[in-house]
Amino acid sequence: MIALLVFAGAELTMWHQAVAQDNTVMNVPAVINPNVAYVSDDFTLPSKENDKPVYDTYTLAQRKEKGLPLTYGKTREYYYGDHVAYLTFDDGPNDNNTPEILDILKKENIHATFFLTGQNVKRYPEVVKQIYASGNAIGVHSYSHDYKKIYASPKAYTDELVQTEQLIYDVIHVRPIISRAPGGTKGHFTPQFWQAINDIGYIEVGWNALTGDADGTGKTTGTEVENVRKQLAERPYLQSHLVVLMHDAYGHHTTVEALPKLIKMLKAEGYSFRVITPAIPPSW
Ligand SMILES: [Zn+2]
Repeated sequence: MIALLVFAGAELTMWHQAVAQDNTVMNVPAVINPNVAYVSDDFTLPSKENDKPVYDTYTLAQRKEKGLPLTYGKTREYYYGDHVAYLTFDDGPNDNNTPEILDILKKENIHATFFLTGQNVKRYPEVVKQIYASGNAIGVHSYSHDYKKIYASPKAYTDELVQTEQLIYDVIHVRPIISRAPGGTKGHFTPQFWQAINDIGYIEVGWNALTGDADGTGKTTGTEVENVRKQLAERPYLQSHLVVLMHDAYGHHTTVEALPKLIKMLKAEGYSFRVITPAIPPSW
């Protein structure tokens, strides 16, 4: 079994052999993306050093149908670096803000992670393609973002995960295995919720810093950058995995404006940037 399918040399050949053996072509990405990594059929995760976005070539329904494992299991390895930042954007995609953010990331030669809602995937599939093609990471952020609905029960929560991964799969022919609970897990997740997402192979990703772009404290680009600088000074231990929460949905253009300044500040502090992978440590 291949642990990690990266598209270079021998692995590529093995991929095609694996496909030929079980006689199906449906799980081959329509366009092979050299900027991403894939989990294997037996759900072996890439090594913790891998810094490319990780996707599954099967949907959960396809894994069930084929009798393949639905999860990586209980344990995974964490990646701790020195001055590593993960920029994350929730609630998108959006046809305005998200492409602008992608342009900035490209200019800065870095990558970030986008936690998408199913309803916005439906609205802006072309933007989902752009995120994927550019080697930025995609995670699931529920379908509706409606707390009442999604936190009604673990099943209600995972139903929206599955609904959203199917929409994403329809667009990019792979599915994410990382997710972020709207509003965070605190006060929302019971142990049964954690169990339910683990059972279907999802890795929940929190945050440990924020620009305040959604809570009123980050009203200007200056305050957004200053908020992160302050949090870093207060919690220097976060520099091994600084996860910054931002938003790219409609109405968040100040986030776009603040982004180059935020990146500049973090680079000056010695940070490098990674995408969220399954090796992301717990936020705190
Ligand atoms: Zn959200």
